[in-house]
Amino acid sequence: MSPTRNRAAVPEQLGFAGMPERLFVCTPSKLGAYLDCPRRYRYSYVDRPTPPKGPPWAHNSLGASVHTALKNWYALPPERRTPEALPTLLKSTWVREGYRDVELERAAYRRALGWLEAYVATLDPQDEPLGVERVVAAKTSVLALNGRADRIDARTGPNGPEAVIVDYKTGRAGLDADDARGSQALALYAYAAQRVFRRPCYRVELHHLPTGTVAAHEHTEESLARQVRRAEETAADIMAAEKAVAAGGDPDESFPANPGSLCGWCDFRKVCPAGAAAAGKEPWTAVEHLAG
Ligand code: SF4
Repeated sequence: MSPTRNRAAVPEQLGFAGMPERLFVCTPSKLGAYLDCPRRYRYSYVDRPTPPKGPPWAHNSLGASVHTALKNWYALPPERRTPEALPTLLKSTWVREGYRDVELERAAYRRALGWLEAYVATLDPQDEPLGVERVVAAKTSVLALNGRADRIDARTGPNGPEAVIVDYKTGRAGLDADDARGSQALALYAYAAQRVFRRPCYRVELHHLPTGTVAAHEHTEESLARQVRRAEETAADIMAAEKAVAAGGDPDESFPANPGSLCGWCDFRKVCPAGAAAAGKEPWTAVEHLAG
């Protein structure tokens, strides 16, 4: 539950007796934005026009390039899914924004290509995932949830066919089972994938390409339900805040700032009074080490 949750406001979500409340349409990243910082959520999803953002981040460019290259690798016929296909795929999807200079961009490209070559060597080209960059959606009594999973694998578990959520990571830091267990996004994808593909989906995996490691967690029905409940609580907080603003409340109070280590990486640091004190990162800071 977010520290800003206004319990007194929650019953208002129920509306008039017998009148169904509109479902809160959201993605895991929308919920995550609010949990990180309600003010950042407001800048991204409530304020219109959207306040000006800072320049694009090189790490986002790198992540997008690698994700799209892998998506396009799976779009090839199985006999062409080879490591040799990767330079062309990566070049054609390469996003150039945010790098300090061409030298750093080239170093990042070489590293990314190395990650991809090592990664696809671990894959069976004959495997057809259930989905690649696949949108999955599900409804609860509060949420109309949708999100794009990097990959949803079809595997055989102890009880027969199952779906497995795979999320690619390209950041510097390695990941462990706690990251996989704690990820609300992965749990919500699993919850939705069960319903879309009508097969069990409990296993979630983070594939960290720079280290070639996989961090995995096996959810249970209970742990998925817990994550859905938390998501619903967050949605209730957001709807309460949005209603308060619509009723003339102070948007700064309804969506309080949560300054911290994320401010340096926030797109809205320059327009956010609370973030002004934070030292901003350069757009290429998170990929600088790749030049070494
Ligand atoms: S700068 Fe910090 S406090 Fe302000 S919106 Fe961004 S994350 Fe929130």
